[in-house]
Amino acid sequence: MRTRIATLSFIAVGVLAAAGQITAAQTPAPKPAPLPPEKPAATEKAREKTVPAKVLFGAKALPSIGKSMAIGYYPLGCLSGGVELPINGPNWQVMRLSRNRNWGHPSLVNFIEKFAAQASKATGWNGILVGDMAQPRGGPTVSDHASHQTGLDVDIWFMPMPDHVLSKEERDTIPASNLVAADWKHLNPQTWTSDHIAFIKTAAQQPEVERVLVNAAIKKELCRVEANQPHAWMSKVRPWYGHHDHIHVRLRCPADSPQCKAQPPVTGVDGCSAKELDYWFSPKVIPPRKPGPPGRQTMLADLPAACKGVLEAADKKTSVATDNRK
Ligand SMILES: [Zn+2]
Repeated sequence: MRTRIATLSFIAVGVLAAAGQITAAQTPAPKPAPLPPEKPAATEKAREKTVPAKVLFGAKALPSIGKSMAIGYYPLGCLSGGVELPINGPNWQVMRLSRNRNWGHPSLVNFIEKFAAQASKATGWNGILVGDMAQPRGGPTVSDHASHQTGLDVDIWFMPMPDHVLSKEERDTIPASNLVAADWKHLNPQTWTSDHIAFIKTAAQQPEVERVLVNAAIKKELCRVEANQPHAWMSKVRPWYGHHDHIHVRLRCPADSPQCKAQPPVTGVDGCSAKELDYWFSPKVIPPRKPGPPGRQTMLADLPAACKGVLEAADKKTSVATDNRK
């Protein structure tokens, strides 16, 4: 009976409401059902499948929690527990702060701090200018810097650190010094100095360094100048596209990173023969071509499986004042 009355009154209210004779405020509104909980995991999953990995990694302002590890291969990997190179040191300053790429595996940060002092001594420079290392969690970058994904690569400029602390604006706008002439075959006598030989040699002599990449015109000159000296270090110095305004130093896989994929070690051949150098001065390389349209984008699934965990991990607490980059 009670049910019947309730049903009737419900119908009555419904009819009246439909006829516009009672207001919504009067209607005994049934309690709204709670909204289904949001599914961040599902949303995240969908994004991972459709958004390129460079966008996902580029959006992370801070490193992941967890043990510091280089994961994967230099151009296809990521960095767990990244650490920051301070933007100023006794012998270095970090450039292009707005890129937020002064992060690396601890072995890279240690290397740069040590090399900064060694290079200063070898060249007489005040110090070095540090360009790109890795993003806080490594991975591909939005500017398509192909390598630098595991926190073991660093670009160091071919110019001395000035004698003052650079402003944020100076760090973002000062151009790097180009050592190569406009024909891409010779060095520019206005910018090339013997200090640069000492600078490159010092980098290549460090045992933790796996490769040092320079423009072919620089490699050729090093081969000429060092021909009659012992130069075992020369086998680590390899010609590569660009690299006319910075060296790219790549460290070998650290012992604490079992998922780091090593490069084949150098063979000890100095790479100075015509056979090895000629290609770099052929029409296949010179003049440098503009990059073509981007190919297939790297997706999270292309990276080692552990990189998903790195991407999704909580932020590591750090003392970094992130607003000094913006
Ligand atoms: Zn580089």
